[in-house]
Amino acid sequence: MRTIHDIHGGIHPPERKSLSRPGHLSDAPIPDELILPLRQHLGVPAKPIVNVGDSVKGGQVLAEAQGVMSVPVHAPTSGVVTAIELRPIAHASGLEDHCIVIKTDGLDQWLTLSGIGNWHEADAAALVERVRDAGIAGMGGAGFPTAVKLNPGPTREIETLLVNGTECEPYITADDTLMQCHAEELIVGAQILARIVSAKAILIGIEDNKPDAIRRVAAAIDASGADIELATFPTKYPSGGEKQIIEILTGQQVPSGGIPADIGLVCVNPGTAVAAKRAIIDGEPLTHRIVTLTGEALANPQNVVACLGTPITALLEHAKLVAEDQQRVIHGGPMMGFAVSNLAAPVTKITNCLLTPTAKELPLPEPAKPCIRCGHCAEACPASLLPQQLYWFARAKDQDQLAEHRLFDCIECGACAYVCPSQIPLVQYYRAAKGQIRDSEQEKQRSDNSRERFEARQARLEAEAAAREAKRAARKAAAQSKAAEEGEDPIQAAIERAKAKKAEQESAS
Ligand code: SF4
Ligand code: SF4
Repeated sequence: MRTIHDIHGGIHPPERKSLSRPGHLSDAPIPDELILPLRQHLGVPAKPIVNVGDSVKGGQVLAEAQGVMSVPVHAPTSGVVTAIELRPIAHASGLEDHCIVIKTDGLDQWLTLSGIGNWHEADAAALVERVRDAGIAGMGGAGFPTAVKLNPGPTREIETLLVNGTECEPYITADDTLMQCHAEELIVGAQILARIVSAKAILIGIEDNKPDAIRRVAAAIDASGADIELATFPTKYPSGGEKQIIEILTGQQVPSGGIPADIGLVCVNPGTAVAAKRAIIDGEPLTHRIVTLTGEALANPQNVVACLGTPITALLEHAKLVAEDQQRVIHGGPMMGFAVSNLAAPVTKITNCLLTPTAKELPLPEPAKPCIRCGHCAEACPASLLPQQLYWFARAKDQDQLAEHRLFDCIECGACAYVCPSQIPLVQYYRAAKGQIRDSEQEKQRSDNSRERFEARQARLEAEAAAREAKRAARKAAAQSKAAEEGEDPIQAAIERAKAKKAEQESAS
């Protein structure tokens, strides 16, 4: 029996998960228009390889990955490309980004797909290539390209593939539903990923507030006969953070600034494992995902399988939104999500939930009051940080102190802000501070690059001048030695040559 470890801090907000009826799943309608951002993942955006006017089929590559930290984008159904242009995307800042727009034809015609027949014998590199080509990026967080995660480097040995079935954020039930409805695919996907990273063990961790998922996954493990361990642990937010679940299940801590592979683990979301199974065995690219549609402003909250690119407004209509004045729509959950400013923005690979709370259900925060130094935030922080100190240093823009206090270990879980009696939006300060530090680092990198370019040019010019001087000296030395060999006085010879040249010029004029 595995020992379960407790993590520092954590909170128990109301879960509200039953609202979306986890375990029930249906397909959302294919909308008239799909909007597919070229960047649905961390890293470099994909590059379009279709043109406006092209007819496309489901599964067709629309945009290719550019480099390692990038993944391709595929068509989720058939239709015609009507635009490649800036469109609003789901982002806290209300940004626009480059998108491929498809007018769907309702026929849902697909390319013929083919998987890798016997994945047990396939080369790990070929399997990773398939994962990359299928456009798979982490489906539980920031959208880290999965193929990159599956290449932990030659010096890191992977002991365990960990499937993180925690889904600890209130309201969200997309992973719970996936584990209940696709447990068999999850088991196969986990085995494939374990083979890719040469993991010796597979561990699936699920919080104990998902008894149906636990039962279904346990049954699928039994039926498969695979040597897979299922561990359950008490519900506490944010146990689903990668570092947190690792500590809960292994007692080990990922070093500050490190990755799970540093201590022999690769951690994936259940959706990523299922997507890997479909990519390898069925040849299916990532074109759809489960989205939780929830909140009391919906008459019919539920989990749906939606085409990537579906406008948020179409899904909310499907779930029968009864909008209040100034209705909020939150992308993600109430703790880590952000308000969507334009509902024309589309679902992407990282859209796990759309939350539409009523004002009574989730009241807007009151204006922030001064910090009273109560220390509750430090007690709640799962990363053992000092949120109050980070807040002061963020306000003071003191980047040295922020680094000293491990700002980048903050997982932005919001537990500190949740318990703060002064209702200070602490996470907003941390996000802004991280952005400023990244900007300063980029600026420093740019100025270092331009200094290096300047110094390299100076060195090149000096080397060229030295080479010219060396040649001139060599020519002079050669002339002198020739004159010496011929018994001439070199100085007299030079005078004679100058005289002859002058006489020649005078006679010519
Ligand atoms: S919980 Fe809020 S008021 Fe209390 S110390 Fe932290 S930031 Fe200050
Ligand atoms: S948001 Fe950051 S500082 Fe606040 S509790 Fe979470 S990890 Fe700690």
